Amino acid sequence: MKERRKVDLPDNARPILEQRYLRKDASGEIVETAEAMFWRVASAVAGAEGRWGVAPEVWAERFYDVMARLDFLPNSPTLMNAGTEGGQLSACFVLPVGDSMEEIFDALKWTALVHKSGGGTGFNFSGLRPSGDVVRSTCGVASGPVSFMELFDTCTEVVKQGGMRRGANMAILDCDHPDLLSFLKAKTKEGRLANFNISVALSDAFMETLEADGDWSLVNRRRGETVRTLPAREIFDLLVESAWATGDPGLVFSDRIEADNPTPQVGRIEATNPCGEQPLLPFESCNLGSINLLHMIDGDDFDWKKLEKTVRLAVRFLDDVIEINGFPLPQIAERSRGNRKIGLGVMGWAESLFRLGVPYDSDEALRRAERLMAFVTASGRDESRLLAEERGVFPNWEGSRWQERGIPLRNATVTTIAPTGTISLICGCSSGIEPLFALAYRRKVFEERTLTYVNALLVEELKKRGLDDEARLRPIAEKGSLAGLGLPDDLTRLFVTSHEIDPAWHVKMQAAFQRHTDNAVSKTINLPEEASVDDVASAYLRAYREGCKGITVYRDRCKATQVLYRGGGG
Ligand code: ADP
Repeated sequence: MKERRKVDLPDNARPILEQRYLRKDASGEIVETAEAMFWRVASAVAGAEGRWGVAPEVWAERFYDVMARLDFLPNSPTLMNAGTEGGQLSACFVLPVGDSMEEIFDALKWTALVHKSGGGTGFNFSGLRPSGDVVRSTCGVASGPVSFMELFDTCTEVVKQGGMRRGANMAILDCDHPDLLSFLKAKTKEGRLANFNISVALSDAFMETLEADGDWSLVNRRRGETVRTLPAREIFDLLVESAWATGDPGLVFSDRIEADNPTPQVGRIEATNPCGEQPLLPFESCNLGSINLLHMIDGDDFDWKKLEKTVRLAVRFLDDVIEINGFPLPQIAERSRGNRKIGLGVMGWAESLFRLGVPYDSDEALRRAERLMAFVTASGRDESRLLAEERGVFPNWEGSRWQERGIPLRNATVTTIAPTGTISLICGCSSGIEPLFALAYRRKVFEERTLTYVNALLVEELKKRGLDDEARLRPIAEKGSLAGLGLPDDLTRLFVTSHEIDPAWHVKMQAAFQRHTDNAVSKTINLPEEASVDDVASAYLRAYREGCKGITVYRDRCKATQVLYRGGGG
């Protein structure tokens, strides 16, 4: 291999790459370096360029460079599978579930195939008849969406992805389904439906009824019958109590999502991927990628030129990924190629704010967020327009909202804010747009491994001020935050962590990014253990008011096992 730029991996990244990303031979020996991995991905993705008579080599070098610098990374399946036989490269899928045994088990089979290939799946189960309804062919009684979800959960448990990790699912139920109340509580028992996130799809009509303190009807759609009517407030209270107790269900605001559906002529958006950032049509997939914002800073502002260049390259990269993607089903290939959705986003936002000297929970941070994301979406969209000139618009453009607006694009959507759970670890930056959970924490990376992480930017700042002695560092590592440690006020204010940030600010930040994002925003509204049920209710209502497409909350320690723990003590 030609001598290429060496990759300067953060310490925590190496075990992750070794376990899951680098190629192994038949005996399990790692046969790939990080450099070789990025070259495998870059050259495979650039291979698409040849279809338009462009020399792939030039683009392969550019794609390599942007990844090897850790300026931009595509979602995990692309890193793992590009350049391998039939490599499936997308993180996100939505599959339809119909109301017959045949359709349910078709969906189950598709789920297994998608999970095996490294993707996550989202479903809307509202098409299933409610529990207790009659099944004509057998004179039996239907078991309803929640029991069928158990089937998908078990299937997920059994099908490990490449033998390494389990898949992830999102189950959505519309707010007028007769089984809504059992769905709300489906995850109350710890461990049940462990491979699912669940969300209720609230319509504008529901939100208006709630506001007016009116009654809401649960409807058996197949029969056109109202099954039960109850105060909307009662539903909302149950929902919020359950979310307070377990983190589930989250919400998706279905009418708002549909209003942003770029191709309503193709179908209605009923569901999102597992972490909620990617609304998709049934059988649609999306490949994501994120820019490491920490590498885009110059002094006390973003380096807009560098950012623009990176955005444009990333959009081209992601469009090329669609070309070479080994889709797991013909239906998925057809839909995904018809809309050519991509989801470019950002990671390292909280740490960028540390660098810029702006506290996360401040109006200035919101202003910067809006300016940043407006810029990313505008540049990304412009690149998609240029690609459309070169390669043609996405096949479903005719009849789309983009055609209505007279804007030719190569991709029906361009931007998404992903959680970047793993790729941010590879880059060594904070994940997505989340504030830091703690300034020092242990993280379970694999079932048997835990890594300790102390924030490097904080250490750097303490050093600058001569405050980096052991006696000051130890309590920070133990506590995970600066609150009450007697450090200078401006430092404590700037290095604010998730639980010190009022939930309202979490939601405001999500909304600021959402205003300039085509798809949706992955964000967990992290609440301290002592947060009340009312705090959850206010966060949910605020998310609707501020224009979010959905919301997820998580109250510290509400589950016996969680991925992140504050401080070194766990
Ligand atoms: P990464 O950092 O690995 O690229 P993200 O944390 O950004 O991934 O997650 C993006 C999306 O990838 C999720 O919303 C989900 O659709 C999918 N995904 C994440 N983890 C899993 C998993 N264990 N199994 C299947 N899909 C997953």
